[in-house]
Amino acid sequence: MQETSDIIEMDQIDHDRFRSWPFSQDFCLTCGLCSSSCPVSGIDGFDPRKLIRMVSLGLEDKVVEARWPWICTMCAKCEHVCPMEIDIPNVVRSIRGLRDREAVPGILHKGLAAALETGNNLRLPKEDFVFILEDVGEEIAEESGFEDFKVPVDKEGANILTTIHNKLVNTHTDDLKHWWKIFHVAKEDWTVPSDNWEGTNWGLFTGDDGAMKTMVGRIVENMEKLKIKNLLWPE
Ligand code: SF4
Ligand code: SF4
Repeated sequence: MQETSDIIEMDQIDHDRFRSWPFSQDFCLTCGLCSSSCPVSGIDGFDPRKLIRMVSLGLEDKVVEARWPWICTMCAKCEHVCPMEIDIPNVVRSIRGLRDREAVPGILHKGLAAALETGNNLRLPKEDFVFILEDVGEEIAEESGFEDFKVPVDKEGANILTTIHNKLVNTHTDDLKHWWKIFHVAKEDWTVPSDNWEGTNWGLFTGDDGAMKTMVGRIVENMEKLKIKNLLWPE
């Protein structure tokens, strides 16, 4: 018969035991399923199984300084196949968050700094952004015969607010047209915000929780300001 004093209360369990640095890697069986499912396995020798083993062995400095965590695309295929359900993308994200911000790979660091300062990763001024939207709208009207087509910017009370990936107003403007044509034919009531329209949140990818929260907060602010309940965040 178990003594009452031997019974472990839930609040006495050391939950941190299951959340060692960064967390969850200690359950790894080294089966290699993650490596075989990973689309970038082999690039510069990257191997998610080895990464998880390095973390498990406490090689913190080596892993934080390594290029491997920045090769991962965070697609989560490995997590999907892992028999121990180890959240490898989150482990990767935690490792990235431990790196000195100035040592975050250039494009990510610069893009995030630009987004925090200007609302988008390209530092595109508002008037240029709106000009591009109008220009693409005119092309749609011409090409598709939607004579009354206009891009609704900052439309209060619309049904959907959509964010934009910066490359779509930079080099891939044609990719904006697919969504917008569907909206038009479906008679959807939608809009694009003229400020803080960036959908790419490199705070997420760089493990910078504060920056991620700021960018998400701006989208929420746009929705509140324009009184919109639905968000299309194609990122
Ligand atoms: S699939 Fe999971 S258990 Fe298998 S090696 Fe990868 S992390 Fe370890
Ligand atoms: S999340 Fe990273 S490690 Fe996992 S399969 Fe995708 S690229 Fe590979």
